[in-house]
Amino acid sequence: MEVVILNKKIGKCHICQKESELTYEHIPPYKAFNWDAAKSIEGDEVMKLITDDNRMPWELEGLKYKSKQRGMGMYSLCSNCNNLTGTYYGTEYIKFAHTIAKLFPEIIEKCKKNQTNITGIEIKGMKPLLFAKQVLSMFCSICPNITQQDQHVKDLLLNKEITGLNPKKYKLSMFLLNQYKIGYNGIQAQYVGGFGVRVIATIDAYPFGFVLEFDPKDNFANPELDITNFFNEYEDKEYNMHFGLPVLERNNIFSCDYRTKEEIKKCVEDNKNILED
Ligand SMILES: [Zn+2]
Repeated sequence: MEVVILNKKIGKCHICQKESELTYEHIPPYKAFNWDAAKSIEGDEVMKLITDDNRMPWELEGLKYKSKQRGMGMYSLCSNCNNLTGTYYGTEYIKFAHTIAKLFPEIIEKCKKNQTNITGIEIKGMKPLLFAKQVLSMFCSICPNITQQDQHVKDLLLNKEITGLNPKKYKLSMFLLNQYKIGYNGIQAQYVGGFGVRVIATIDAYPFGFVLEFDPKDNFANPELDITNFFNEYEDKEYNMHFGLPVLERNNIFSCDYRTKEEIKKCVEDNKNILED
C-alpha cells in the first residue's frame, strides 16, 4: 500500500522491501531517452483504446492522460535502492541504449536489405550482467512483489557481484523497438491459443522492449531474444558481445503484440466483414 503524508510517499520499497520514503524511479533511466514530459494513459482511458471500434490502438488523440513532467516512472524505490541501482546498473544500460539509438538507421537499412527483422549486433566492452540487472530492477519497480517472494532476486540486485537467475523460474527476453515509446504492463496472465497460459510482465522503453516471463514454458517459441544467460554466463566484467536481436513494432497496448499497423487494420476490417455477413 502507498500512503502519502505531506507530499512524501511512504511505502514498501519494491527491491529491499523496507518501509521507507519512496523516491521517483525513472523507468527506463532518465538518461536513456526518458527526460521528456510524458503522457501516461491509465485506467478507464485504456479501456477506451480497447473497446472503441472507431479508434485504432495507436490513436491516442482525445484520451485523458496524467502528465508526468519528469519522464515516465513511479514512486517505487527507497533512496538507497534508487541510488544503488542507478550507480551500479543504470550507467551500463544508458551506454547500451545510446549505442543502439545511434546505430538504428543502419540497423533498419540492413534489415530491409536482407529482408529480415533480425539484426546481428556486435558490442565491444559491454557488461551484460549489469545491463540485465538494470532491466530486472525495472521489472521489480513495476511488479512490487518479486523480491518479497524471492530472496535471491533481492540479493542479486543489492550486490553488484552476485550472479545467477534460475531459468526455470524466470525468462528475460528483449528486442529492439524502432519507435519512441515508453510503457509498462505489470504481471498478467496471457492465454496463447493452442499453448496455454503464460504469466508475463512487459516494458517498452525505446530503443528496447523487454518481456519477463514467470515459470516459463520452454516449448513456447517467442520472437524476442532470451537474455536470461546474461545473469548466468557473465560476471561483473566487460565482454565483446555478439548476438542477433529482432526489431519489432509495438502498435498496441497488449503485451507481445508485434503486428504492424497494416496488419492490425486488416484484422479490424476482417472482423467487421465477418460481423456484417
Ligand atoms: Zn530499498
